[in-house]
Amino acid sequence: MVDWLENDVPLLVSACLLGMCTAYDGGSSPHPRLQALATQGRTVPLCPEMAGGLPVPRPPAEIQGGEGADVLDGRARVVTADDQDVTAQYLVGAQAALTAARRFGLCRAILKSRSPSCGAGQIYDGTFSRRLRPGDGVTVALLKREGIAVHTEEEEGGNDKMSKQIVECVPNFSEGRRQKAIDAIAAAIGRVSGVKVLDVKPDADHNRTVVTFIGQAQVVEEAAFQGIAKAAELIDMDVHQGEHPRVGAADVVPFVPIQGVSLDDCVAMAARLGARVGSELEIPVYLYEAAATNPARRNLADVRRGEYEGLKHEIAFNPAREPDFGPKRMGKAGATIIGARPPLIAFNVTLATTDVSVAKNIARAVRHSSGGLRYVKALGLSVEGQAQVSMNLTDYRRTPVHRVMEMIRREAARYGVGVTGSEVIGLVPQRALLDAALYYLQLDGFVPDQVLESRLVEG
Ligand code: SF4
Repeated sequence: MVDWLENDVPLLVSACLLGMCTAYDGGSSPHPRLQALATQGRTVPLCPEMAGGLPVPRPPAEIQGGEGADVLDGRARVVTADDQDVTAQYLVGAQAALTAARRFGLCRAILKSRSPSCGAGQIYDGTFSRRLRPGDGVTVALLKREGIAVHTEEEEGGNDKMSKQIVECVPNFSEGRRQKAIDAIAAAIGRVSGVKVLDVKPDADHNRTVVTFIGQAQVVEEAAFQGIAKAAELIDMDVHQGEHPRVGAADVVPFVPIQGVSLDDCVAMAARLGARVGSELEIPVYLYEAAATNPARRNLADVRRGEYEGLKHEIAFNPAREPDFGPKRMGKAGATIIGARPPLIAFNVTLATTDVSVAKNIARAVRHSSGGLRYVKALGLSVEGQAQVSMNLTDYRRTPVHRVMEMIRREAARYGVGVTGSEVIGLVPQRALLDAALYYLQLDGFVPDQVLESRLVEG
């Protein structure tokens, strides 16, 4: 959170954020908190593009060949959608912003996100397709170079409906052993401005890492792309081995609606990202669950049938395995399955036996597809020599964790086997643990509001 209101430091602010109609299309992006600061005389408004001599309206422009710093150094240029070079005007505008900052003694700026002038951390990628790439706009690059701190209006908490939207993304990457590769993938995701990486969970036995991150829809989509691209660069599926079924370096990429977005919004994100991954990275993409293009692809296990090795063989000749996007061939990055789903819990139960057939039998009994519990997907695996039932609980409100655990205990007892432990992979909704606590403690009449910490958060 930027402490604009907590101190009296005056700010350089993008004119369009104060409601001035300076945007290329004659519009503005009024930000109520910044407008309130303006009424107190604490802002210096400036539109670098107009200061550079560009009119309103004007054609949209983007940076091609790099980012703002590259424009300053003559390695990239700013062009309009109708191919006019406006680099000179952008440089003049950046200089005008710096001059204004110095004249008023400003050391901090709040500028409009994503603009080729004012964007900080990410900008449009130069293709005029509304896609983002990491980087700063021209004015931001110059201000930063001169020691002026730059924030976007979105860092503050936002000004519109978009800023209240939260999407979670939980990609699974087929690397759980090489820490450098895991770090590089997580860093590629975390570098996208506005994204918060909540958890990175490698699993050496599964040779797989689950990354959990959140943010607004647009930045989450961009971060997912960056993670997929980095995984494709670093992971060779031809040599990958691990317990868990997989088809690609970036194996599964689900978008999960958390706040202010619908499942349909996440379906649209999945389709957009799939098209981009298919065309830019030339990776075959399959859409699954709520984003599936046909019912046969709703279930992840069906899409992953045959795993990397089998799909690599089938993709070229079997029409049923044709990808939704990208080529009908697989390189060393394999294929990527992208989709949208409600929140799920990845929950594993370890058994007191080395006999993996027991875990497989229990998985069969407990999973919905073979007659078990609704909203449960399960596999029997051997992990560090112990039998394990590895599960995804796809709707913990309807089939709670404790019900699954109790069924596994009962099934395991048939084989004279106990449960030695369980684990949650990634994050878990508090409500799921609370439900389990209520069940095992046999608490009557308890309501979630009685949890002390939840009162603190509200307060
Ligand atoms: Fe707004 Fe900056 Fe674009 Fe001007 S250059 S319209 S201030 S984002």
